[in-house]
Amino acid sequence: MNILPSVKLDSKYKEALIDFQSREDIPSIWRETPIEAFIMSQNFGWPIQTTGKPELLIATCIEFRYAMPVPRMYAYVIRRASGRVIGSEFSVGYTLAKGVRHLVMIGHNDCGMSRVPQSAPLMVDAFVDQGWRRETAEEYVKKHAARHAIGDELEALKEEYHRLHRLFPKLMIAPLFVSLYDGKLYLPRWYTQLGPQDTQPGTDPVPDEVIERLP
Ligand SMILES: [Zn+2]
Repeated sequence: MNILPSVKLDSKYKEALIDFQSREDIPSIWRETPIEAFIMSQNFGWPIQTTGKPELLIATCIEFRYAMPVPRMYAYVIRRASGRVIGSEFSVGYTLAKGVRHLVMIGHNDCGMSRVPQSAPLMVDAFVDQGWRRETAEEYVKKHAARHAIGDELEALKEEYHRLHRLFPKLMIAPLFVSLYDGKLYLPRWYTQLGPQDTQPGTDPVPDEVIERLP
């Protein structure tokens, strides 16, 4: 049997990610919540107990190398290129209305959205092949590439975490990182360095300007 390499052998992630070696490695703020249950199921094989009510909103990338093993009647899932929720805030609102209080955001290594400039010409060709005018396709790809492209995967996850925490301050958000090598979840080290104001639920009103700027 092949032994899959740990993502932590990659020097880029060695210091930036923390292993969940046991339940104790889960941040205390997530204990006894659906976030803890999700991590335990994905990394330690604990069975997910479904209640018939949605427990979680999970946001992750469209990446085909990652298949999230969760049962039906358990979670809402948003899958978008890079895993960022930007542009799907309405969907988040819907899940909040259905009782969801916990969001798990899952970034991953080797994300295609960190290499958008390389894919852009192929995407233009693909739209042209569908019957789009080349100029229109080029303009469309240029406009949306800027919105979808990310630099570093962990940095993009961090920025999106802070954006969502400001927008939905009472939603408990868990930023996680999945390794495409072994399918395990890791904790970004930057999360452990955040203060309570960035992790605890907030009660301040959300300024209109923040909402008006949504795409
Ligand atoms: Zn991706």
